[in-house]
Amino acid sequence: MSKHSVPVAKNEYVEVTFEDLSHDGAGVAKINGYTLFVPKGLPGEKAKVKVIKVKKGFGIGRLIDIIEQSPDRTEPPCSIYHQCGGCQLQHLSYEAQLKQKQKQVKDVLTRIGGLPHVPVHSVLGMEDAWRYRNKAQVPIGEMEGGLVGGFYQERSHRIIDLDDCLIQHDENDRIIQLVKDIAKKYGIRGYDEEKHSGTLRHVVARIGKVTGELMVVFVTRTADLPHKEKLIKEIVQQIPNIKSIVQNINSKKTNVIFGDKTTVLWGEEYIYDYIGEIKFAISARSFYQVNPEQTKVLYDQALQYANLTGNETVIDAYCGIGTISLFLAQKAKNVYGVEIVPEAISDAKRNAKLNGIANVEFAVGEAEKVIPWWYAQGIRADVIVVDPPRKGCDEALLETIIKMKPKRVVYVSCNPATLARDLRILEDGGYSTKEVQPVDMFPHTTHVESVACIELKI
Ligand code: SAH
Repeated sequence: MSKHSVPVAKNEYVEVTFEDLSHDGAGVAKINGYTLFVPKGLPGEKAKVKVIKVKKGFGIGRLIDIIEQSPDRTEPPCSIYHQCGGCQLQHLSYEAQLKQKQKQVKDVLTRIGGLPHVPVHSVLGMEDAWRYRNKAQVPIGEMEGGLVGGFYQERSHRIIDLDDCLIQHDENDRIIQLVKDIAKKYGIRGYDEEKHSGTLRHVVARIGKVTGELMVVFVTRTADLPHKEKLIKEIVQQIPNIKSIVQNINSKKTNVIFGDKTTVLWGEEYIYDYIGEIKFAISARSFYQVNPEQTKVLYDQALQYANLTGNETVIDAYCGIGTISLFLAQKAKNVYGVEIVPEAISDAKRNAKLNGIANVEFAVGEAEKVIPWWYAQGIRADVIVVDPPRKGCDEALLETIIKMKPKRVVYVSCNPATLARDLRILEDGGYSTKEVQPVDMFPHTTHVESVACIELKI
């Protein structure tokens, strides 16, 4: 579209009807074919909008007044929803969120994958879609009134004080509130990002939802944590299920939360949790899925699509701490997991041992290099599971899959757009996508997880 055909000007007020929701949760309106994205607008709504940004291909608007309201609009229960940005869909009813996510997957499979015929099932959602997170990472700072901790205001580094996050497990909220109270009582200073001064940078709380075990991590700028003994004593007195109190030192000027040095101040190095029958050891810095109930739903679906009888060799690419590998190992002959982060592979091996699972092998490396190497060594998988990051699978990996010809590929995806792109490559290489099952792992956010069942054409 040429510049002259942009039909709106900056600061202009226009009346629009939203046709859709974008992948990041904004209302999408068309003005003579020109796309306007308006945060918090909902499909079907008619609204007055102020144009705040005009670009060649699209513009951004601000919602001024809703003229006709969507029946799916709800009052966001969180008091700071509009400042925080952690959730994007609280203004849409949960039922409508699930429908929207299903539509989004269906749309990209059609548009990007050229796969309009592939069935996309209704999204598997949560019965209670609140307080699902098992991990809280709360930035701590200093304001005029003293220590504050909560969340960064959207697109800024200003910390807004908050004690109650509605998608967070209430015990994590409680322990963080307690740490803030104790720190204030004894005058422990919050971190000042600009001056690079103060002590406490972040408080991280983790809970094993099945075991109830709690861990708290103090991320500090200095090795010295004043009043440490009192902090520990009061936590242990007031939180009966505390299992681990840890300090991590991060003395750098950085946005990265954790530093390199971690010491256990009290209790154990690990807390434990279960997904299904499998037990996981979780340290301060371990990756672990933040919504384990829905992770189980997702992995059960992946296991069902893998359709194992006990005789198969399976590859789990992008295996992380081996969650899917250990799930699969219960039903397969052998599982090979590959993952790029060495610490995740150490955790995967520990977890295999913890569960007495001996038919898995884990390798550190890039999936797109390790799997071609396995192929060259003569390893042939009957089933390959992939669970890549948002950017999807590397093309070299997809090419190796096409050469290796496993009977089935199970694709677990956190980004429908790259899933659709990769399914097209597999389809062109002799595979057929049977169905896709989305699972809601992160209610009230725009994230969509799906699992696709892909079979070799005969
Ligand atoms: N299946 C895992 C999580 C997958 S998330 C679980 O259930 O725990 C995606 C993973 O891919 C991350 O652990 C990330 O470190 C890893 N990763 C990213 N790029 C990679 C690559 N090129 N090769 C292998 N692993 C990679």
